[in-house]
Amino acid sequence: MATNSKHPETLVLHAGYRSDPTTNAVAVPIYQTTSYQFRDTQHAANLFGLAEMGNIYTRIMNPTNDVLEQRVAALEGGVAALTLGSGQAASLFAVQNICHAGDNFVASTDLYGGTWNLFANTMKSMGIECRFVDPADPENFRRATDAKTRCYYAETLPNPKLTVFPIGEVARIGRELGVPLIMDNTAAPVICRPLDHGAAIVMHSTTKYIGGHGTSIGGILVDGGNFDWEKHKDRFPMLNTPDPSYHGAVWTQAVKPMGPVAYIIKARVTLLRDVGAPMSPFNAFMFIQGLETLPLRMRVHCANANAVAKHLSGHAKIAKVIHPTVMTGEAKKRAETYLSGGMGALLGFELKGGADAGRKFIDSLKMFYHVANIGDARSLAIHPASTTHSQLTAEEQAQTGVTPGYVRLSIGLEHIEDILADLDQALAAA
Ligand code: PLP
Repeated sequence: MATNSKHPETLVLHAGYRSDPTTNAVAVPIYQTTSYQFRDTQHAANLFGLAEMGNIYTRIMNPTNDVLEQRVAALEGGVAALTLGSGQAASLFAVQNICHAGDNFVASTDLYGGTWNLFANTMKSMGIECRFVDPADPENFRRATDAKTRCYYAETLPNPKLTVFPIGEVARIGRELGVPLIMDNTAAPVICRPLDHGAAIVMHSTTKYIGGHGTSIGGILVDGGNFDWEKHKDRFPMLNTPDPSYHGAVWTQAVKPMGPVAYIIKARVTLLRDVGAPMSPFNAFMFIQGLETLPLRMRVHCANANAVAKHLSGHAKIAKVIHPTVMTGEAKKRAETYLSGGMGALLGFELKGGADAGRKFIDSLKMFYHVANIGDARSLAIHPASTTHSQLTAEEQAQTGVTPGYVRLSIGLEHIEDILADLDQALAAA
């Protein structure tokens, strides 16, 4: 750790790296290598036996990725992290690390469609049951829990509803029952730290705000180091009994000298070793660049989105604006509790003119990009009913919060006057 600061602006520039030990380079070098020369046979044996930490093979670890891991762990207030090839890989690893065939886990219904598919279909085919529950009532998580439940999973700021997840409430239920909460914090980096509210693990699709420039696909898992896996031995045999895939290591014991990192070390040296979904060092470098300006960018993203929400509220062609700043009741309370650093830059609205108006609006945009992505420096828009959600029935679309006239925006960093002008001219044509 090259800084003791607690401030995100400083951590993203200094945590985990001062200069390159061999060249003194200030920018983090891209270590584009597959493998690393062992000093001697004892050194090699120590590394494989986890008696000493160090580099073996880039499928499992890499010095460029290591800096990104340390920085994101510091930013989220965790103890260690693991970079992966995509957000999807991070979601899979987050659960699969502690949930095996015959086990189950409980997930919020408010999830990114790709995560929903992974959990409902691919993981089902692996013998892992995902129980989806409505997060409106946190007690739904308790009701769905049994002796085989290994974790809870949710998104901080899920789109399209953009209703903030009750992190503290569900984390408390989980801690009572011995079930860790895993949070996908992709849409709310810096503005929310789920670990501070009792979550045990955080994941990000780094593809979005952390990268910030729409260039690279990646994911990361952060271990909060705050969950007592040993206390719940029966629920977590995979961390408390000998692992036949690693010469009988008992993870909670084997890594004790390194700190409370059993979860993340196991993910790295068993799952990543076996499944092989690493982030490339080049992409890790790109995410390090993105991370350096993340706190600054989030401030502008959020300020621009606040202004857009205000501008669109009351527009003659818009039935409803969806953004935490214009919410009321419980949703407002949750946003104020958990989004302490800003209200996010995802924003939705419903056009009174329905699907036709939605399509016309999108086709009339001149500056906003029409893409299936979020978190870019540029402003982005999509009409879910005719794209991402078009395979669902009207009823299913409504359940996910998508109405025929619903438009999703990811507000970028352009000047606010230009953002509003593009929205206004497209609305005039819709
Ligand atoms: N989680 C959320 C909230 C997302 O929006 C996405 C992608 O859109 C993912 C996870 C998956 O990330 P990736 O596309 O990097 O695999």
